[in-house]
Amino acid sequence: MLTRTYYQYYTNVTYLTCPECLSWHGKIARRPQGLPDRKDGCERRLLAFSPRELDYHREQERRMRAAAEAELVRRDLLAQASDALGSDNDVAFSLFRQVVAVDLHVPEVEALCEKRREPLEADPALRRSLRALFAKAYSDKFGHPRYERLPEEMRLARERAGIARINELLA
Ligand SMILES: [Zn+2]
Repeated sequence: MLTRTYYQYYTNVTYLTCPECLSWHGKIARRPQGLPDRKDGCERRLLAFSPRELDYHREQERRMRAAAEAELVRRDLLAQASDALGSDNDVAFSLFRQVVAVDLHVPEVEALCEKRREPLEADPALRRSLRALFAKAYSDKFGHPRYERLPEEMRLARERAGIARINELLA
C-alpha cells in the first residue's frame, strides 16, 4: 500500500536560531525537497506523517509559527530595551518585562551587560531593579512545561547557576 506522506519542518526555537530557519518552523510540504536543508548549524528535523494526521499537524503548524514569530518579536523588543537603557529606564523596563514574559537566556544578559556597560555601571539602583526582574524571570522559566522533562535536580541546578550568573553580572 502506498501512503502519501507529508513532512513538517522542525527547528529548535531559541535565541540562536537564525530568522531564515525560524521562517520555516512548522511549515508542511508534500516532499522533503520542498523544505530547505540549510546545514547552517540550526537544528533541522523533518517529521514525516500520513494524511490522516494532517489536521493535527496543521494545528501544530499554527502553534509553531506563533512560537517562531514570538521569538522574532522578543529579539526586537530586547534590542529596543537595550537601546533605551540609561536614557528612558521606564520604557526600557516596560520592554524588558515583555521580553522576559516570552523567554530570557543568560548569554543575552551577558551581551546586554557588555554592550550597555556605561549606563549600568553608573546606576546601582538600575542594576538592582534589572537583577530582580531577570532573576525572577529566570526562576519562573524553569516552572514552564517545556522544562518539566528535565530531572528535578538538573532543573534546580540550571536555575541556580543562571540566577547566580545574573546576580554576578548585575552586582
Ligand atoms: Zn538557521
